Amino acid sequence: MSNNNKKSPYKLIVTDIDNTVFDWVNYYVTSFNALLDTVAGVIGSTREILAGEARDVFTTHGSIEYPFLAQELRSVNQFYGNDIDSMLSEAVFKGREAFMKAAQSVLKPYTEVHGTFAEIRRHYPDLPIVALTDAPRYVAMWKLNKLGLLEFFDAVYGLADPRVPTCELNRRVKVDPEILLKHLQQSNFGFKGKIRILPDDYEKPGVRGLKTVLMDYELDEPVEQRQGVLWIGDNLRKDIGLGNRLGVRSAWAEYGTRLDPGTLASLALFSPIQNVQKNVYIKSDDPSAPKPSVVFATFSDLLKELSL
Ligand SMILES: [Mg+2]
Repeated sequence: MSNNNKKSPYKLIVTDIDNTVFDWVNYYVTSFNALLDTVAGVIGSTREILAGEARDVFTTHGSIEYPFLAQELRSVNQFYGNDIDSMLSEAVFKGREAFMKAAQSVLKPYTEVHGTFAEIRRHYPDLPIVALTDAPRYVAMWKLNKLGLLEFFDAVYGLADPRVPTCELNRRVKVDPEILLKHLQQSNFGFKGKIRILPDDYEKPGVRGLKTVLMDYELDEPVEQRQGVLWIGDNLRKDIGLGNRLGVRSAWAEYGTRLDPGTLASLALFSPIQNVQKNVYIKSDDPSAPKPSVVFATFSDLLKELSL
C-alpha cells in the first residue's frame, strides 16, 4: 500500500541528539573511561586522578566533549613537559585509539531510530528534519555521522567548535597534524544540508536556539504556525520547558531518561557538576516539571505522531 499522497501533519521536525537519538551517557562514559585508563597506563597515573583533572579541563573549555582532552590533562603535561611529539604519539594517540575502539560498540542509535527516519523520508521526503544540540557543531556532526544518521537531517544547529590547544612553553599546537587539518577544514562529513553555529549563550534551556530554527524556516510568526513544529528532547526541564515557552508541540523522549545508576556515578567522576545536570535528566515526581504535548516510549512513536 502506498502512502505517497499523505500530507505530514507537521511542517518541521526539530530534534535533540544526546539521549534522544542515542544513549549518550553510556557511549561517553564507556569511551571516556577507556581513554582515561589507557592514558593512566601510559604515564603511570590512575583513572581517578585523571578524571578529576579532566573535570577542570572541561570546565575551562565549557564542554564535556572537548576532543583534545588528553593533551590538556595536568599530569600528562607534567609527564611530557615540552616534548610534544612524545605526548602526541604516546598518551594522546593511544588514548584516542582506546576512545574510538570503545565507541565502536556503544555509539549506536536507539534501536528504532534509523528505521523511523527512513520511514519518514520515504513518506515525507520534503519534511525538514533539524538537529538542535548544545554540543559543539563539529562534535555533533561527528556523532551523527558515526551513528549513520547524518543523511536524514536537513540542518544541524550546534555551538561553537572546540578551541585547539597549544603548549604554554613553546606555543606549539598540541594536536596531530592530520587531525588538526580536519578541524581547521571544519570537516562536514560530506553533509549537504545547512550548518549553523549558534553563540554560546544560545544554549538550552534558553529559547534562542530553537527560535533561530523557527525563524530560518519561517515558522516563527505568526505564532499559530509554531503548532506545526514538533520538537523532540529527553530533558523535561531543558528541552520540553523551552518548547512550551515558544508554543511549539513538544515530544518528551522519556526512554532517554532510563539511565543506569552505575554509569551515572561514573559520569559524575569526570563531569563538571553543572554538566551532569545539563546532560542528564533525572526523573522526579516534581509537579512543577514542564508537561510535554506527547510522551514517546520509543523513538518510533514519532511515526504515530506523523500519522504513519
Ligand atoms: Mg539530550
